Amino acid sequence: VTFESARAASIKSSPSMAVSMAAKAMRAKGEDVIDLSLGEPDFDTPAFIVEAAIEAMRSGKTRYTSPDGLPELRAAIVAKFKRENGLDFEMDEISIGNGAKQILFNAFLGTLEPGGEVIVPAPYWVSYTDIVILHGGVPRIVPCGVEEDFKLTPAKLEAAITPRTRWFLFNSPSNPTGAIYSAAELVALGEVLERHPHVCVMSDEIYEHIVCGDVPFVSFGVACPSLRGRTLIINGVSKAYAMTGWRLGYAAGPKSLTKVLNKMQSQSTTCPSSISQIAAAAALNGPQDFVTTAVAEYKARGALVASGFAAIPGLDVRAPEGAFYLFPKCEAYIGKMAPDGTRIETDTQLASYLLTEGKVATVPGAAFGVEPYIRLSFATSRENLSIAVERVGQALSKLR
Ligand code: PLP
Repeated sequence: VTFESARAASIKSSPSMAVSMAAKAMRAKGEDVIDLSLGEPDFDTPAFIVEAAIEAMRSGKTRYTSPDGLPELRAAIVAKFKRENGLDFEMDEISIGNGAKQILFNAFLGTLEPGGEVIVPAPYWVSYTDIVILHGGVPRIVPCGVEEDFKLTPAKLEAAITPRTRWFLFNSPSNPTGAIYSAAELVALGEVLERHPHVCVMSDEIYEHIVCGDVPFVSFGVACPSLRGRTLIINGVSKAYAMTGWRLGYAAGPKSLTKVLNKMQSQSTTCPSSISQIAAAAALNGPQDFVTTAVAEYKARGALVASGFAAIPGLDVRAPEGAFYLFPKCEAYIGKMAPDGTRIETDTQLASYLLTEGKVATVPGAAFGVEPYIRLSFATSRENLSIAVERVGQALSKLR
């Protein structure tokens, strides 16, 4: 019997998860692998958030909530948008999900007609295109390489819009490139969208707080207020508060849109865990010094890896502006021969060589829709990162 439907067969499992599993398997066999493949903070969730969750369980907040979320969480999200972004949302303009990932599922499930197009600048987060395809949509991928600082230009956006375009989906600060769109760049994209009222915008702002360089983060909602009626801002607590396992993401947009998302939520998981909702409210309402400390550490790590990898000949490195990724172009190594006589033809083969020869796990650019690049996550200790720079340099120097 074949179990897999045509729909399921149309997508792949998350490639970054696959690399990380391979690295874990090598480690289990006693190999000393440094894993730079996963986009996950290496810190523990702050203690006051954990305490809020324990208190929630002890006080019986262990039941289904409304699919729209607990009022205290929605109030905390409304307050967050006001305090941190200066944006005004009503309680019924908020939607929550089991991670920002489920927000994307709810949004596409609820709004895409078969063949509806979603413009996705590449490199993109690995899941975007598969989530679109899974919901019957067609990703319109627009390549934006290192030469363009990995950012979509207004002209390219204009050229990608068709009568079937439903959404423009982008992510700043970016996974995998670390690029941040400036306010002026967002305004310029907004001007194009003004001319195409049938196109809605999904702005994935999950790395909002993780800013490593001089370009400040600006929410799309702040840059383009005139598009408020067709903008969905996506965010979550995973990255900012080291809460990836709690599975809590949220979004803000016009009520007619969040209503659709909440309807999808009501018939899928009903609601995210009540305990995670309370923990997320505590995170958003509580002291923000964890975020400040973590970001200072990411900055130091970003500087370390950017200079370390830039010093390796043949890697074209842009210093990350945000998030915790470096995305060097590695064209100089494509076509070279490994010591065992195999030729490296693709970035996927290069990443696999770096894993076996250098014992460093990375994700190839191919997973993010552009080649040849490798993504290195610097959400690990500076000590690990220094060793990784050394090992990658050594392994690459053996290619002829
Ligand atoms: N968006 C981007 C760009 C991400 O990198 C990730 C996680 O890696 C997510 C969304 C999903 O985050 P969550 O844990 O909230 O589902």
